[in-house]
Order: sequence, then structure tokens, then C-alpha cells
Amino acid sequence: MDPDIFVFDPEAALAPYASRSGISRGRIHPEPPPRYRTEFQRDRDRIVHSGAFRRLEYKTQVFVNHVGDMYRTRLTHTLEVAQIARGIARALRLNEDLAEAIALAHDLGHTPFGHAGQEALDASMRPHGGFEHNRQSLRVVDALEARYAEFDGLNLCFETREGILKHCARAHARALGAVAARFLDGGQPSLEAQLTNLADEIAYNNHDVDDGLRSGLITIDQLRGLDLFAAPYQEVALRYGTLPERRHVAETVRRMIDAEVGDLIATSRDHIARAAPCHPDEARAARTPLIAFSAAMAAKNLALKRFLYRALYRHPQVKAMNEEAQKLIAALFAHFMAHPDDLPAATAQKARNLLDLEGIDGQARTVADHIAGMTDRYAIAQGERLGLSGIPVVGRGPAQVR
Ligand code: MG
Repeated sequence: MDPDIFVFDPEAALAPYASRSGISRGRIHPEPPPRYRTEFQRDRDRIVHSGAFRRLEYKTQVFVNHVGDMYRTRLTHTLEVAQIARGIARALRLNEDLAEAIALAHDLGHTPFGHAGQEALDASMRPHGGFEHNRQSLRVVDALEARYAEFDGLNLCFETREGILKHCARAHARALGAVAARFLDGGQPSLEAQLTNLADEIAYNNHDVDDGLRSGLITIDQLRGLDLFAAPYQEVALRYGTLPERRHVAETVRRMIDAEVGDLIATSRDHIARAAPCHPDEARAARTPLIAFSAAMAAKNLALKRFLYRALYRHPQVKAMNEEAQKLIAALFAHFMAHPDDLPAATAQKARNLLDLEGIDGQARTVADHIAGMTDRYAIAQGERLGLSGIPVVGRGPAQVR
């Protein structure tokens, strides 16, 4: 930071175990420090300016994009994760800018059509090294974004990249180097990465309850059996009497988020106090993550997750859409492997180059990068353009959209 511009250190009040720009493990391509931002603020800004970030607006979270204007998209999900993560980071005196950067980037590698798209692309890529969206998010910021003169990708700090790589199979970890070392040697990521991971969970569990009820695919009666929902729902009923249903649900979901965030902060504070780390690396070396829910909250959270999996993500109507989406992704992959010249010119060139250099796996990776970068509607348009099957019901929403 330039002392002429920065009159105070915005990271001075952070806890000793917080990540700080001054002790960052740095960027792959060294750059002069930012003049009026911290290193992590610069990362956050680069992520927001990226093309992959803008495309999140047109990618499915659970409900295929455009089936209803009120549902979360991957962009609004990302913003909810970021604000929950920032709140937790600030309460724990951790680096809010780093947590925000990790949150904003965490889903950049997601395929169109949510988890269905990821599963389909992984299946198509199985003979070529597989496809995994966390690894792809890192690939987007390390290699695929092409907007800086001096390097590929966004050249983010180690700590941001470490947080983006939430999971990684051991088989792939070696090739990724230091950023994936913990998947081979054990240990934890930074506390900011840990809290952002749980902020993601808090965000999607709660907004999927909200979107699920709105769609009519799940009902309040089903949710009454779940502590996390039932207790605040009852509380709201006792305190406010009869409210219009949407308002009752919104007030309930708000209280669910508050209960989870409050539990996470209190429990993590206890863990941190007991471990008393004096440096972010001491928090990384802990045997288990220091950022965690209490056992009671973790159990309630798991029950909700299981319910959503069974009742919403596996709902026949969601499943029908997912199956069509998967057919489309598989057909696009097969088509571009057989006809790489149908890719956009620059991508086709890249596919040819990689076919020469690395063989068929190189071509497959280029095709997977291209498909993963697609929005829902672009994938549908490509399917139509190329005359592929498996698309007709994609885009038809749940019957009872409210
Ligand atoms: Mg997410």
C-alpha cells in the first residue's frame, strides 16, 4: 500500500490469526502492491470485473434460470454468500476483504444447470481426467480469464486461491502445487476460507427453503418436522399472529439465518480461544477446522440438508429438468469432440493446438472449459443451433410457480 494514499492501515484491527496483505504468500506473477487498496480488495475487484462473474447471472442455482424472476440465480446466491461471510469475518476480527473475495469467486467454475450440469460434464470428462467445479473455479481465475496484458487469469493472491479450492481429489492435488497441499498433507485452509465455506452452506440451505416454498415443490407442513425451521416458524406465529404466508416464511428464514450465523460465531470464538493461534498458519495447522457450528446446530443443519436433497433436489419436476439438462450437456460435449470446428474460432484453434500437444485429453479439456463457461440460455441456444436432442423441457418451470 502507498503510504501517501493510505493514511491508515485497514487491516490494523484484525486478530493475530487473521490473514493480512502484508503476510500474504503472494501472487504467481509478482506485481507492485496496490496504491489505495489492500491485496485482497484488489482480488475482490478483479473477480467482480471478470467475464465469468457476469455470467453467473444466467446460471442455474436450483431452478433453471428464467423459470421465474424471483428465484436465486448463481449470481444472487454468490452475493448472499458474500454478505453472510463478511458479517462473520468482521465479528471474528478476520479479514473481511479476503472472505468477500473468496465468496465472490467460489462458484465461478460452475457449469450451466447447476449440479446436474456438473454431474453430466464430469461423466463426459471421466476418460479425460474428470470435471469438478471447485477445481474449475480455480482454473477460471488462474488460467481461463483473458483480460490482463501480462498474465493469463486474474493472478490472485495465494490466500484467495486457497479458499476457492474448497475440495480437491488427491489424484489432482499434486499437479496444483502449494494451493492444494492440504489435500495431500492434511491441515486446514485459512479461517477466512473456512468461514466462507460455511457461509455458502448457510446461504443455500436457507434460500432453497425460501425458493422451494415459493415454487410449491415443498410445503410448510413438510418443514414442520425440522427443528431449524419449526422453532422460528412457531416463534413468529406466537409473536405476530396471522401473517400473510410469504411474510411469515421470510421472517422465519431470516431467523434461521440469524440462528446459524450466531451459533457459528459463538462456537468458532470458543474454538479460537482454546487454540489461541498467533498467526494464520497456526490456525491452518489445527487438527480440525476452528470455524464450526456447535454439535447441536450441525445436526439440525444436516437434517435440513437431507430433507432438501430428498424433497427438493430430487423432486420429480426438478429431476425431469435436470435430466434434460444433462442430455444437453452430454450432447454438446459429444458434438464438440466430434466437430471441434463448430467451436468459436479461437476456442477451436486452442482445441487443435492442445490436441497436437497433449492428445485427446487436451481437446477434451478445451471443450469442457467452453461448456462450463456457458450460461443456461447460451447452452440451450447452442443445442438448438447444432440440432441436438435433449432440450425441449429445459426452461419449463415447476407447475406452481408463485
Ligand atoms: Mg455456492
